[in-house]
Amino acid sequence: MRYVVVGASAAGLAAAEGTLEVNPGAEVLLLSEEPHPPYCRPLLSYRLAGKIPDSLYPLPSKALERAEVRTGSRAVHLDAAARRLTLESGEALSYDRLCLATGAASKPLGLPGEEAANVIGFRTRADAEAVEEQISRGARRAVVLGAGLVGVKAAGALAARGVETLLCAASSDPLSQSADERAGALVARALEGEGVQVRFGHRPTALELRDGRAVAVRFDPPGSREPCDLVIRGKGVDPRSELLGRRGGIPADDQLRAPVPGVWVAGDAALTHDVAWGEPRANAIWPMAVEQGRLAGRNMAGAGETYPGSLAMNSVRVGGLHLVTAGIVRPPEGEGPYRVLRREDPARGTYRKVILRDGRLVGAVFAGEAEQAGLVIAAIRAGTRLEDLPFDPLAERFHWGAYAFAGCGSR
Ligand SMILES: Cc1cc2nc3c(=O)[nH]c(=O)nc-3n(C[C@H](O)[C@H](O)[C@H](O)COP(=O)(O)OP(=O)(O)OC[C@H]3O[C@@H](n4cnc5c(N)ncnc54)[C@H](O)[C@@H]3O)c2cc1C
Repeated sequence: MRYVVVGASAAGLAAAEGTLEVNPGAEVLLLSEEPHPPYCRPLLSYRLAGKIPDSLYPLPSKALERAEVRTGSRAVHLDAAARRLTLESGEALSYDRLCLATGAASKPLGLPGEEAANVIGFRTRADAEAVEEQISRGARRAVVLGAGLVGVKAAGALAARGVETLLCAASSDPLSQSADERAGALVARALEGEGVQVRFGHRPTALELRDGRAVAVRFDPPGSREPCDLVIRGKGVDPRSELLGRRGGIPADDQLRAPVPGVWVAGDAALTHDVAWGEPRANAIWPMAVEQGRLAGRNMAGAGETYPGSLAMNSVRVGGLHLVTAGIVRPPEGEGPYRVLRREDPARGTYRKVILRDGRLVGAVFAGEAEQAGLVIAAIRAGTRLEDLPFDPLAERFHWGAYAFAGCGSR
């Protein structure tokens, strides 16, 4: 039995490990189009900031001892009926079972000129190296477009390198997909404290080019223009589902099977059942990719396990601010079945919020003080009712007894 995994990052390595756990003698081949050995993507901004050495990049994995990894090998065509993959080199590879762990790509800006060498996404090690090169060539002013997790991390790293950095987003506050307005205001303040200028409600409309390089970004509202010598595309990501001829992600069933025989899917490329929303979503975070990869790999090898569902979670430190968010953070307007509980201490810069739907925990925001966020996240994953929670999720400090909580109640 030959197992092939496309993508050798969080989900792909975990898929290889999962397959080998169930079938220790399996022949597993991991394909990666990137030229580097597997590395940890969330470290890219720390590397750019100069906080970690290059030597911390390699990603340790048991799979690397047992599976074959082929870097610089891009799969360009999948013939699922014949169970065959074609690589960019023209080579055809047969498989018995396939896992697509193809991740996601930086969203394009959709503006003419974005292929210029100084307009760079922030997704890969090559991107981080390209940014590094622009800095070493004298880039002094950067505009980061988009204030999601990647935009915020990239802006902080550039400012730490002494690059004058402006973070611009069309939204009214940063992390608009993963935090709420109040937490966003704290993040904006923390970014400013790190030396990043921030501007919201600004949509980029054009790149001004000179000699093939972007020299300014123009925005709506009209008339606003920001000169720059480096532009970062931080507008979020598109799941990579092109091998199945799709856009927007690959739907996964409850065993993480793709809608094609013999194919499983995991990580940023997958649309999995989201336990908070109760519908399929792409939850593009490292721990979900690992969890899904392992289960998809185990199931490729015949384990037949059910995926309990994913949950959006983020933990980010901006300057001195620690922010943890999970699940539904901005419930639909008009309340309906949703109820929101808040506790705020502006003097200390702390803020907590818990979102309930029909009395069950479905989301949380912890800003400033987030030590026990893991317990609340466990409750969201378990679909616990507020009244069954053996602690107050808004309390600054939980009673020690709360740590005995293991997610009571179920959906
Ligand atoms: C700058 C940055 C910071 C982040 N910080 C955090 C964080 O703090 N916390 C967190 O939880 N998450 C963070 N993330 C998100 C996290 O990195 C992703 O959720 C995770 O990497 C997803 O893993 P994956 O294996 O699904 O996909 P990826 O890591 O994207 O890996 C997919 C791999 O497949 C390869 N590939 C795709 N198509 C093909 C093909 N056809 N042939 C061959 N190879 C192919 C790609 O080149 C890539 O190497 C961050 C991401 C970035 C970019």
